[in-house]
Amino acid sequence: MGLLAAVALVSGGVVYTVEQREQDARERVTATRTATPSPPPPKSTKPSKVAASIAARRVAIDTILLRRAEAVRTGNEAMFLADVDPANAKLRAEQKILFANLVEMGFQELGYSQAEERFNPAVRRAHGSTAYLVRILMRYQIPTVDFTPVTTELGYTFVARGGRWLLTADNELDADLGPGAHREAWDLGRIEIQRGPRVLVVVEKGDTARGRSIVAEATEGIAQVTAYWPLKWTGSVLVIALDETDVRDARFADEDIESAASTGTTFSSLPGEESADGTVAGGYIVINPNERDRVDEILLSHEITHVATADLGGYEPLWLAEGAAEYVSWRGIEAISGSAEVAKWEQEVVDEAVPQLAALPGDAGFYQNSADVYGVSWLAVRQLVRKIGLDQVEELYEDLARNGTDQSARDRILQTRTGLTEATLWTSLTTYEPQR
Ligand SMILES: [Zn+2]
Repeated sequence: MGLLAAVALVSGGVVYTVEQREQDARERVTATRTATPSPPPPKSTKPSKVAASIAARRVAIDTILLRRAEAVRTGNEAMFLADVDPANAKLRAEQKILFANLVEMGFQELGYSQAEERFNPAVRRAHGSTAYLVRILMRYQIPTVDFTPVTTELGYTFVARGGRWLLTADNELDADLGPGAHREAWDLGRIEIQRGPRVLVVVEKGDTARGRSIVAEATEGIAQVTAYWPLKWTGSVLVIALDETDVRDARFADEDIESAASTGTTFSSLPGEESADGTVAGGYIVINPNERDRVDEILLSHEITHVATADLGGYEPLWLAEGAAEYVSWRGIEAISGSAEVAKWEQEVVDEAVPQLAALPGDAGFYQNSADVYGVSWLAVRQLVRKIGLDQVEELYEDLARNGTDQSARDRILQTRTGLTEATLWTSLTTYEPQR
């Protein structure tokens, strides 16, 4: 019965955190009070050998995952590598780098848990009949950046050899995981971190000057977001500036339109875990490697606006999200270059971008649109600011981010708060003549 209790415990998807490390394997076999309730085992039958071996495997892998998290917490590389296949030199080398990176991140919480087993005949053929391919949830919290613990996915392959389980591959499930899985900042080569009071910048190891420069620019960017967007946001930003085109869900290699940076969401609950959309916790900024030399406060103030608004819910229309981010960064340009610069840009959007569209740009295909949808979105937000004031636009943003889950909800919120629909807002842009 002890093993079955352990199965009930771990199949509840319990995430073992560093704080829970005291709960050693022996305790976990008997302790059921922290378990999510699961169906009781059949009382009349004895557990089969297969069920018992699956249960034993589950406990063994959980113990390994606990040990890896504990190793990061205590900075013990030998402990981290203890369960990595000694025969796989390449994996061991990669895991050394991963370990160093994880330590450098300085997580205030880190835990790994087993999600479901994934069957893959090729993995069985490669590693033998004991091969166990399992989706892993990594739950962590970066101090000041993540307001709550967030979750990312991995896929680990374990094999039983010489009476114990060993991690023998960490990439065999990657293609089947969600976007950006196993492409986190710490997964891609040796990194270093430069820190400011509200900024963490991840660069390649040794790219120190760049890291420090981005800390300074991001600090300016935060000041601009604070000055030009009324939301009271006290968070910190994580900026990833690596020599990689695919980081998290950012894809800079195969994008038609060059984008200098992108802000991708973090999830406290992944899509499909508890709800289809997941629960957005915040966002991390990823810089296009080809644009790393041109990172400035203007670019970052746009992205930081996304970060500051990320955890509101994420249901706002893209024209509002991008328009608000552009609004903030253009206020910064205005402060530096003067209002003539803004007036020139506004005239260009009115003359060239608006005539290319027939409506406010929709979410579908927004980033693929060849028209200047950013300029038009910026113009729409400026129009709203003129009509109802910046504070009211910010409240509109929050309402839409939280509640704009479908078009009818969005229409209702926009109409109630501004007296406009997306159609009449669009009409006001097509007839708008800048006052000079
Ligand atoms: Zn943007």
